[in-house]
Amino acid sequence: MARKLVVMKFGGTSLATPERIKRAAARIARQRRKGWDALAVVSARGSATDDLLADAAKLAKHPAPREIDALLATGEQASAALLALALEAGGTRARSVTAHQIGILTDDNHRGAKIRAIDPRPLRRILSEGAVPVVTGFIAVDARGNITTMGRGASDKTAVVLAAVLKAKRCEIFTDVKGVYTADPNVVHDARRIPSLSHEEMLEFAAMGARVMHAGAVEWGKRFGVPIDVRSAFSSAQGTRIGAVSPMAGLDRSTVHGAATDEDWARITLHGLPDLPGRAATVFEVVAQDRINVDMILLNVPQGGLSDLSYTVLKTDLPKALANARRVAKRLGARSVSFDERIAKVSIVGLGMQDHYGVAARMLRALAKAGINVQAISTSEIKVSCIVREAEGARGLKVLHEAFQLRRRPKALAAGA
Ligand code: ADP
Ligand code: ASP
Ligand code: MG
Repeated sequence: MARKLVVMKFGGTSLATPERIKRAAARIARQRRKGWDALAVVSARGSATDDLLADAAKLAKHPAPREIDALLATGEQASAALLALALEAGGTRARSVTAHQIGILTDDNHRGAKIRAIDPRPLRRILSEGAVPVVTGFIAVDARGNITTMGRGASDKTAVVLAAVLKAKRCEIFTDVKGVYTADPNVVHDARRIPSLSHEEMLEFAAMGARVMHAGAVEWGKRFGVPIDVRSAFSSAQGTRIGAVSPMAGLDRSTVHGAATDEDWARITLHGLPDLPGRAATVFEVVAQDRINVDMILLNVPQGGLSDLSYTVLKTDLPKALANARRVAKRLGARSVSFDERIAKVSIVGLGMQDHYGVAARMLRALAKAGINVQAISTSEIKVSCIVREAEGARGLKVLHEAFQLRRRPKALAAGA
């Protein structure tokens, strides 16, 4: 009978030193001694990705995304080889493998490539030989064999996707905090660990900036029902279980379970866009043609037949998105294009929001009381987000964490725990 499989993903800090790599190897070996098969997924060590990006920026003003991907891939490759060495040295058979060897195929949208296909056979072969595959997270290849990467933090995605295709029992994400907290514990010091969350809640939380989990990873976890455990790489403490939350949990759900801030987005505005049917559609068709991700969209009430259309794009996409916006503005006869990189999005998230009135009002009142000006608002059934000045992002987060009493009711956050 096939052994049960667990996918174990180690983040950058968890592999930063040889000591930590040894520790990760020992954890994998322990799991195998308990009768499990294990597959490891690794990120680049420490600040390797940021350091490589900083070097590239010193050499080129607008570095080619293809070369950036080739460069960044070296970070994950080093981690995979080092962890495989440490496993073998400790008596556990291991084989490091990179994306082209196991066919993680994406489109050619460098730095934000989307998965098209995965061939699980090479990994099954390594597992059946009794070895631990140590897979480079984050990186993949396109149909022409070029190295691609799937966006910052996307090692989580590699891990969850592999857990899904190999039908692992669960995916463990080892990181530098003890789980998912009510807000970033490195910013809000009295934030509390949330024992369990549904995929939906984590998806929204991650998309709003709780970067402890990559949103795209949670999306795959939701689609394929993969339970995800976020845990500390440095202790055996219980972490946060994502998914497999009891259906009754929703009945005893607090309104808001977490607050997050996200500084990855910039605003673009097309001013004086003629107010005619189909104009906004054209804008976003052209945006999509350039494969630019859009987050928030805001269309003002027209005045004198002209309206302003604002949307937010990833700061890393800004040069491309601005060129795109100027092109479309000219085509549609808009008056001008402006942008602002100095914005932050602060959000509150919670399934229980659906059953309460006045959540947005409470959020806006709290921000107003703190003197924080809100530039745009967007809502869904389970989240409210506001755009504020970048310099106010961290303070806004603390204000909301306090206003929704996230630190005082840790028990109520534990959906089904
Ligand atoms: P890794 O390299 O292990 O993938 P990341 O830096 O991507 O680590 O994610 C862990 C970090 O996420 C934490 O150090 C913490 O600062 C940040 N973080 C942001 N929001 C949250 C949250 N709600 N709960 C826990 N950590 C959070
Ligand atoms: N090394 C990549 C990054 O820093 C991927 C990851 O850590 O998940 O974004
Ligand atoms: Mg991460």
